[in-house]
Amino acid sequence: MLEDIDRILLREPDIQARIEELAFQIARDYHAKDLTIVALLNGSVFFLADLLRRIALPVHFTCLRVSSYEGDQSTGEVRFAQEATDIAINAAGRHLLILDDILDTGCTLQAVRARFSDQPGALSLKTCVLLKKSGTRTCPVEADYWGFEIENAFVVGYGLDYRDRYRNLPFIGILKQSAISS
Ligand code: 5GP
Ligand code: MG
Repeated sequence: MLEDIDRILLREPDIQARIEELAFQIARDYHAKDLTIVALLNGSVFFLADLLRRIALPVHFTCLRVSSYEGDQSTGEVRFAQEATDIAINAAGRHLLILDDILDTGCTLQAVRARFSDQPGALSLKTCVLLKKSGTRTCPVEADYWGFEIENAFVVGYGLDYRDRYRNLPFIGILKQSAISS
């Protein structure tokens, strides 16, 4: 697995230190509010687990399966699972924070935002991503909270996969071109 990595972008201690800061910021902003985190599967599971344990507030969380990538390419189409309807129904009176691993074209966050803003009831709707790429947006959306801004390269590790591999790398790195099959 390690031999397929071209370059490490973010090491584990840097990721953890930044998550600590994000958790502090979120805890401050949502103090005395009923916060529900909606994590987008599968990519955000490691981020979710590390962030949530550092938010010093009572917080609910739920997960939503969304997919738009095939291999290393975005299909441009965002697919939702049934949970989206259940979460929307249960959103009344809650502050929703959508959590994703990475913001690239922006179409995933835009579609998820639209899915929940269609539903009456949620008190607020914000977004949080660990990574955001610069200069790649085709859908005009930005995250309210983000960990790191990165270059436009295909990255894996810490939850991010290529064909369902590399998620368990503890760091975030750029995959070698030779490891990407056409
Ligand atoms: P967007 O809809 O903003 O283009 O992309 C969001 C989703 O695409 C992310 O949740 C993630 O699953 C996938 N994605 C975007 N860029 C990358 C990347 O560099 N590496 C991996 N592994 N997934 C990515
Ligand atoms: Mg994803």
